[in-house]
Amino acid sequence: MLKGKNALVTGSTSGIGEAIARALANAGASVTLNGFGDKAQIEKLRTTIAAEANVEVAYSSADMTKPSEIASMMAEAEKKFGSLDIIVNNAGIQHVSPVEDFPVEKWDQVIAINLSSAFHTIRAAVPGMKRRQWGRIINIASAHGLVASPQKTAYVAAKHGIIGLTKSVALEVANNGITCNAICPGWVLTVLVERQIAARAQASGKTVKEEELALLSEKQPMHQFSRPENIGALTVFLCSDAAATITGSSYSIDGGWTAV
Ligand code: NAD
Repeated sequence: MLKGKNALVTGSTSGIGEAIARALANAGASVTLNGFGDKAQIEKLRTTIAAEANVEVAYSSADMTKPSEIASMMAEAEKKFGSLDIIVNNAGIQHVSPVEDFPVEKWDQVIAINLSSAFHTIRAAVPGMKRRQWGRIINIASAHGLVASPQKTAYVAAKHGIIGLTKSVALEVANNGITCNAICPGWVLTVLVERQIAARAQASGKTVKEEELALLSEKQPMHQFSRPENIGALTVFLCSDAAATITGSSYSIDGGWTAV
């Protein structure tokens, strides 16, 4: 379905981004991976996805807090593959703290990775997409892009911000064959969430399993984690011809979190 298209997924060395990269590759797109981690493991991931999907897979170690590294990553990916047709802004981190104790450098880091990096990738990708009159921009927001929780000020601000960015870009490129949408997951069991569950278990003295259920039942009517593959499948759908007129939307995949 996506044969001949070239995709880039930020933060795709683990969790949701990795699943999105796999899903796009399995749909036929060449993919540029990005993110941190062990060099050998990333290389294994790169070659495994390439072999499984029979597509080219590249990797960029660009740090999403650094606009100059993002610019180089975008230019290199476009040069290597000849075009950048699909970009998925997925890289993200969390920091949990009361607002009065929130470290300033953590605020800056969360806003840079979870929000500003998407501005930098989008501004680099749009000119080529306009020239080719085809593009798909998908921003991984969160249920926290639609509703808030306490002690997550930077994350909630960044995720609300990325939904605004999504809508504004969608309007600008509406008649250029480019769509721009956000996906808003609820709880997905990845490293980002495992860390929060471990911190809760340490604070409460309860088991990790007990804290998993407590975390789910506080927010999600459906007491079940979404799987990274679910987000991958929705991303592929948003890249398909069937989704050609879906733009400026925010898709919840959250076990009913934002329905209450
Ligand atoms: P994760 O921790 O498993 O993956 C995060 C990825 O981002 C990794 O590849 C990491 O290397 C990369 N990354 C971190 N800092 C980076 C930087 N400075 N530059 C480049 N890459 C960097 O987390 P995840 O749960 O898969 O989260 C992916 C996205 O999904 C995030 O935007 C997150 O906010 C969002 N999300 C996650 C959940 C959830 O429950 N897990 C829910 C809603 C939204």
